[in-house]
Amino acid sequence: MVTVVKRVDLNGIGMTSQRTRERLIQRLVDQGISDLTVLDTLRTTPRHVFLDEAMAHRAYEDTALPIGYQQTLSQPYIVARMTELLLAGGPLHRVLEIGTGSGYQTAVLAQLVERVYSVERIRPLQNKARARLRQLKLYNVHLRHSDGAMGWQEKGPFDGIISTAAPERVPQDLLEQLAPGGRLIIPVGKVEQHLKVICRTEEGFDVETVEAVRFVPLLSGKER
Ligand code: SAH
Repeated sequence: MVTVVKRVDLNGIGMTSQRTRERLIQRLVDQGISDLTVLDTLRTTPRHVFLDEAMAHRAYEDTALPIGYQQTLSQPYIVARMTELLLAGGPLHRVLEIGTGSGYQTAVLAQLVERVYSVERIRPLQNKARARLRQLKLYNVHLRHSDGAMGWQEKGPFDGIISTAAPERVPQDLLEQLAPGGRLIIPVGKVEQHLKVICRTEEGFDVETVEAVRFVPLLSGKER
């Protein structure tokens, strides 16, 4: 049997005109995103490719959008902010992402760091993300189906870790898989969540709280 893969228009002419995209980038600048390489990457990464057809026309709005399985593609502002915070410590070689979801944040990272390792607990989301990343020819990404709270020990230590789902407490495994000088960007909390930047130093960990956020919860175990 031949599987026919539907071709997605990477440019998204029409509904996702260049003008609509520029408006989104301007909005990110207005909200304080200042890293030009991050802004440029968001400008050129087609977000509509990471959404199902019914949602694609909203791809360049600055909002989180549903991707099925009760999960969401993060708001562009938060993707930009977390990426900017991750890169603030200098060039990164190995980055771990918890929560591949649609693969959009993964795609952004893949263009800014040497290698991305991304873990997702819902298999069908992971499969879709893999196809989309391939379509964009992003080959420096490695995906794994597992519970991201355990990190990905065999591939660590990482000089950056980013979690796009919120645990109530920072998982110990993630701290342990952070290389010296490495940074962990993670939303933490249940009802009230805060974005934290945790840097591994010679002596221990420096924790900085950045801003209030709203993420889907980090759930334990993996789904089929
Ligand atoms: N970065 C994604 C955001 C998806 S939402 C994007 O750009 O689309 C968060 C994702 O984290 C969801 O796909 C959810 O299934 C996943 N997730 C939640 N808990 C997890 C866990 N313990 N391990 C791995 N992935 C997890």
